[in-house]
This record gives sequence, C-alpha cells and structure tokens, in this order.
Amino acid sequence: MAKIDTYNFSKKRALVRVDFNVPLDKNTLEVMDDTRIKAAVPTITKILNDGGSVVLMSHCGRPKSGPENRFSLKHLVGTVEQLVGAKVHFSEEIVTEKSFEKSSNLPIGEVLLLENLRFDPREKAGNIEFSKALSKHGDVYVNDAFGTAHRAHASTSVIAKEFPEDKMFGYLIEKEIESVSTLMKSGNRPVAAIIGGAKVSSKINIIDNLLEKIDILIIGGGMTYTFAKAQGGNIGDSVVEDDHIETARQILRSAAEKNIDVIIPVDSVIASSFSNDAETQVVATNSIPSGWMGLDVGPKTISDVHEAISKSKTILWNGPMGVFEMANFVTGTHEAAKSIVRATQSGAFSLVGGGDSVAAINLFGLSKEVSHVSTGGGAMLEFLEGKELPGIKAIMS
Ligand code: AMP
Repeated sequence: MAKIDTYNFSKKRALVRVDFNVPLDKNTLEVMDDTRIKAAVPTITKILNDGGSVVLMSHCGRPKSGPENRFSLKHLVGTVEQLVGAKVHFSEEIVTEKSFEKSSNLPIGEVLLLENLRFDPREKAGNIEFSKALSKHGDVYVNDAFGTAHRAHASTSVIAKEFPEDKMFGYLIEKEIESVSTLMKSGNRPVAAIIGGAKVSSKINIIDNLLEKIDILIIGGGMTYTFAKAQGGNIGDSVVEDDHIETARQILRSAAEKNIDVIIPVDSVIASSFSNDAETQVVATNSIPSGWMGLDVGPKTISDVHEAISKSKTILWNGPMGVFEMANFVTGTHEAAKSIVRATQSGAFSLVGGGDSVAAINLFGLSKEVSHVSTGGGAMLEFLEGKELPGIKAIMS
C-alpha cells in the first residue's frame, strides 16, 4: 500500500473513487450541497499539483435500473470545476472504447469525471469484469470514498486487486481511519462515549465494542427509556424496546465489571405528545406519568454530562440526546455539543460520527470546533462496531 502524501503522481493518471453522492435540486438539477465535493478537493489537488491527471468515479442517488437524468453526474461538472480550479471533462460512458479514449488522452493537470457508476448494475454486484474494465482508466488507484467503504462494490473494493502496488487511500479516508484509531487506541484517558439516538438495538454492537476501550459511557436519546425501564423505572409512554431490556441489563452488568462509569439521564423533559407544541415538564426519568413521554434530557443530566465530558481527554459522540429536530427538545443535544466543544478547546480529542449527531453538530454550526466530524454515516457505524470495512481492507491487504 502506498501513501498519498509521499506518492509522486507526476505523469500518472490517478483513478480516484470519490463520494459525490450529493443532493440535486429536483427542478434545476443543480448541486444543493457541495460538502462532499469539497471534501475530495485536497486529494484531487495533490495529484494535479504533482503533475498528474485525475479520473473521478462515483455513484449518486439510487438509480433503479440504468441511466436516469436526475442522477447523472454531468450535473456536477460545473461545481467540480469551480471547486478544483481545473478543467473537468465528462464521460457519459463508463467502460466503453470511447470512454477509455477520453481517459488515455486526458492532459496533465486536467480531470475526467465518469458517469454515475450505479447506472451499471455490475457496480453494486461487485462484478470482477466491470472492476477490471474500470481499472483501465488509471495507472494508480486512490480510494477517497469513506461513505461507501463498508460496501464491497466494484469501484470501492474489488478494483483494488488490479493495482497491487499502486493503491492508496485519499486524504479524506486517511483522516477517518486516523480518527477512529485515535479513539480506539487512545492513551489519553478518560475516554468517554456519548451514545444517544433512537434505539438500543441499532447501537448495541457499538456499545459492546466500546466497552473494552472506554472509561465513561453516557446514554442519551430514546435509548434512555429502555435502560430506565431495565432499572425498574416508570417511563410512561416514552419510546422503549421491550425486547432489549435484557440487552440493557447486560450492558450495565458488563460496564460495572469493567469499572466503567455509566451515566443514564436522571431527569427528562417530558411531553404530552410527540410534537413541538405539546405541553412539557421536567421530571425524574424513573417516574414519568402515563400519557407522557421523554423527548429530551433535563437540566440535572445536562450538568452530569458536562461534568463527565469536561474531565475526558478522548470523546466519541454518536446519536443525539433528544428529539433535536424539534426546537423544544433540542437543548440536551445542544448542551452536549457545547460541552464537547469546550473539552476540545482544553485539549481533548473529539470524534462525532455515525448517527444523527453529525446532523446536530452541523445544525449548531459547531462542526469546526471538534476534532473530527465523520463523513460516512453507515461506514462510521460499522467501523465503530469493530467490523472490517471492505473498502479499507482492499487497500491495506
Ligand atoms: P440515530 O440515528 O440512532 O442517531 O437516532 C436519531 C433519532 O433519534 C433522531 O431522529 C431523534 O429525534 C431520535 N430521538 C432522540 N431522542 C429521542 C427520544 N427521547 N424519543 C424518541 N426519539 C428520539
């Protein structure tokens, strides 16, 4: 495996898998959010500055069976050109003679964007012939698409075999890998994980994996009430997974054995219905009257979370503390974000990833104030669960 920073791309055509799965305006088909394109710029710029050329490949949206104009990458050409500051050509065909002619005639310092890979069903099928054909577009393969690193698709993992020496991660994936390994191998303790979000069932694998590494576990969001019920509390009409009450008990037992400090919200902002206009009050999480549901953490919990976070040196945040999409239940999530920002300013390492906490930190305009915000939802979840991601394994093996 090569390293992007030390690799010399001079006179090389780099085939770069990026994640340009960006939202397009339904009517004008203009790019509505260019975050993912911007994220790929450092890798593209490095290659062009070295005196190489770049062939970009990506998927976009979920085309059903074949080309659909609303998912065509041709709508991205202007934005990519503007953000990269170089000429960007487009190939409507992906692996035909005409497309190979375009990539082999690509001048140094210029970029060729291939059409949406998922217009060809062989991409998602991880078809070897398709990956071999794609590989003809480059002398070297760079994977910078963290968002699809958990998929064994033709362009994200199968293709790497065609470049036994000249394969590497782009800057974006490198940073994601580095952040998770900083978290998992951190000698900077205490290590805290805030795990919120809707359900215990979707977070159980992460919690299991993290229990080996953390000192403090903070539970938040809808999961709170499964834990509170497991401890014998009355949770009214709060969201609960009755079939995971035993899971919650097991987590608590296992955390106790490992001397992990577990914070389960002691108080909640409860509402008379799942609505921003509902009547609200603050009560102890273990005595919620029937007809009421917990939609955010209360002030005592906010201060418990703040105290725990401010003494932590390494912090993971996955999942909101409450229904942050509604203004009346955003406070717990906003305050947790602020505590993480303050700890980061005092030198802690903080990673926000794999859940709606990424949407939340963006909403609060605080994403630049933490150490790393992950770009890959599902990929980051699997990474934190300790799973091997095909896109990462393919480069490393
Ligand atoms: P996740 O994708 O697992 O991070 O879950 C995020 C979702 O959990 C968000 O849409 C939140 O609105 C929801 N959520 C957070 N707290 C609660 C709660 N107390 N009750 C119901 N849903 C919640």
